[in-house]
Amino acid sequence: MIAEVIVDISTSEIDKIFDYIVPPDLALQVGDRVKVPFGRQHTEGFIVRMKDKADTTHPLKPITAKLDAFTPILPEMIDLMWRMCRENNLRLVDVLRLFIPAMMRGGRVREVKRHFVTLAENVSFESALSTLKANAVNQRAILSVLAGGGEWAAILGEQYGFSAIAALAEKGLVKVSEVTKRRRPQLKPVADKVVTLNDEQAAAVQSIMHGDKDINLLFGVTGSGKTEIYLKCIEEVLSEGKTAIMLVPEISLTPQMMGRFRARFGDKVAVLHSGLSDGERYDEWVRLLRGDAVIAIGARSAVFAPLKNVGIIIIDEEHDGSYISENNPRYVTCEVAEIRRAYNGAKLVLGSATPSLDTFRRAKDGEIGLITLRSRVNGTSMPEVRVVDMCLEIRSGNNGILSAELVDRLGRTLKDGNQSMIFLNRRGFASFMICKKCGKVMKCEDCDVSLTWHKEDNLLKCHYCGRPYVVPDKCPACGESDMRLGRVGTERVIEEIHRLFPSARTLRMDKDTTRKKGSYDEILSAFRMGEADILVGTQMIVKGHDFPNVTLVGILDADMSLYYEDYHSAERTFQLVTQMSGRAGRADKPGVVVLQTYSPRHYVFAYARDNDYEGFFRKEINIREVTNFPPFTKIVRVLSSSEDEERALGVTKSMLAKIRAYQKEHPERFVAVSGMKSPVKKIEGKYRYQIIMRLTRPEETDTLFHVYEIVNAEDKKNVSVFVEINPQNMN
Ligand code: ADP
Ligand code: ZN
Repeated sequence: MIAEVIVDISTSEIDKIFDYIVPPDLALQVGDRVKVPFGRQHTEGFIVRMKDKADTTHPLKPITAKLDAFTPILPEMIDLMWRMCRENNLRLVDVLRLFIPAMMRGGRVREVKRHFVTLAENVSFESALSTLKANAVNQRAILSVLAGGGEWAAILGEQYGFSAIAALAEKGLVKVSEVTKRRRPQLKPVADKVVTLNDEQAAAVQSIMHGDKDINLLFGVTGSGKTEIYLKCIEEVLSEGKTAIMLVPEISLTPQMMGRFRARFGDKVAVLHSGLSDGERYDEWVRLLRGDAVIAIGARSAVFAPLKNVGIIIIDEEHDGSYISENNPRYVTCEVAEIRRAYNGAKLVLGSATPSLDTFRRAKDGEIGLITLRSRVNGTSMPEVRVVDMCLEIRSGNNGILSAELVDRLGRTLKDGNQSMIFLNRRGFASFMICKKCGKVMKCEDCDVSLTWHKEDNLLKCHYCGRPYVVPDKCPACGESDMRLGRVGTERVIEEIHRLFPSARTLRMDKDTTRKKGSYDEILSAFRMGEADILVGTQMIVKGHDFPNVTLVGILDADMSLYYEDYHSAERTFQLVTQMSGRAGRADKPGVVVLQTYSPRHYVFAYARDNDYEGFFRKEINIREVTNFPPFTKIVRVLSSSEDEERALGVTKSMLAKIRAYQKEHPERFVAVSGMKSPVKKIEGKYRYQIIMRLTRPEETDTLFHVYEIVNAEDKKNVSVFVEINPQNMN
């Protein structure tokens, strides 16, 4: 037998498959992780195919060892690997690494073994006791504990002494066995509510599980009972002996959802997300692979959960940007889910109150099912959205960051003992520092971006690479001491609130206040427990939190995401405003949203104010069609970056010439092709150049493959080149 092995070498550009001989004494199969000789050393690799004869006449070497007691990669995942590599132009080994926990690579697995003590076989409590001397008090005590079942040696030893356990074992009265202890991530326990689904929910479950479409969009406002529907579908899937994958945006932000799953399904749930330690992640992963857990719940990487016989995959908040992996290897979670769904004949549910334009279009066109939940479960109405024109505000003499209306409502909310949330998607105190005289802006030396002033630790920081800089007391260019500060951030908002309402208790949640593990949870619980009146935060506070006492939501600078040079900016702004509004008035108290903008007449705000997703969809999809943007075309970006600017530019020019030549042959396949410096010219010391093209559909896949060929044929020494499809940000 010959095995085709992909070797796991991180630094090299090698992504080839090598043939090795399978020694008959190693019971190997496809998906096994093995040790193989490679060059002068040994390395790890994965078997991806078995065959009878080698394709080469080179003398082959045998595989040295099988590295795990189990087969870590399921046959389904090998299939998935081939597809992902082809469709996204990825390296095989990079994709394989997505499928296994980081701890497995390089022999770093440390399972925690613990000793468990039971009565030995054929030994009864009475018979054991009769053999002991009367003064063996501790040994007798241990036996009486074991009479009621086993116990951990650590616990017995602590209480009665380890020598007593050893003495009993010596006499053959007890058995000490080694058991692998699985590290389990802590979850906040949530009481499980017994809920009877209402008619709308029951009909939704019926359509998902037994309707004529395997893929359904579950379109329902926040609080319409989607999570209960997910739980019910999963129950049904498990009762058929199948497994389930539940994906949520950023898991550390959704402890409640996790808690509900744990409460309902107990140990059948395994969680996978980036907040776990390597050890926890490995243990949860093994529980899934062994079938000890049958529900995987987690952020995007949980789509690769090693589950067999998947019956349902659910993607909650499907529009969320976190489902698109921007780092190598790049992938789109929903696409992977569709491949796994098809392989398993499973159901796929995409849930959202603000579906991505593309998903809603597919539902409208009947490509996938559309299930709409019209109302909130508890009958509360959506909050009133009040759009405040900040230009008028300035004209009336208010230059502050908070409009008069917001200040007034904050005051009243405080007086009523209710809570408020204020959203501003900018952390720090001020987004830039500029010299009043010569106009010099403080910038990062490694990245082409302005530095943000953080008042708390009095530093200028780069939000791309994190590098801190001392705050200059005068302009480094002209020596002027009058430096002006740019747009405000969350720190500044807190300061302003304290100035206006000295007694208000505030909390801030952004990247700076949540660096420690568990700090998200601390801030959110404190707010939930009423320890603060006002929570100020960046987009971390937008997602599915359910705070019954929040009656006021303020959205500052709603335009910020509107004028990014990006075709999705309107879609994103609509989602953001709608999701943020969903935080107000969740229980029996009505909510109000104050939205501050410099473009109050923009259609995004009009539709968001009226909670009119469908109206927004019609308008926006029309614009996309007329202007030839996705989903009617596909945007492809080829980004080259290098510390050597000449190289990045050279590679870009060379590829651009080839792409343009191809465009000449097939003009109908392109809307546009352009090559340029990236908007952010340098990040972490690497210069960036990009080619952006818009491909017409439906031939876009052929065109894309041709682009891959051009990229792959290029000499990429000292340059890294990535191809991105419909990139989330074009910086
Ligand atoms: P969504 O996921 O759409 O935001 P949830 O499923 O979290 O909505 O439901 C919102 C609240 O309503 C939760 O507290 C949930 O327990 C409750 N709920 C959902 N369905 C029902 C029902 N049929 N009867 C009573 N309470 C329900
Ligand atoms: Zn930087």
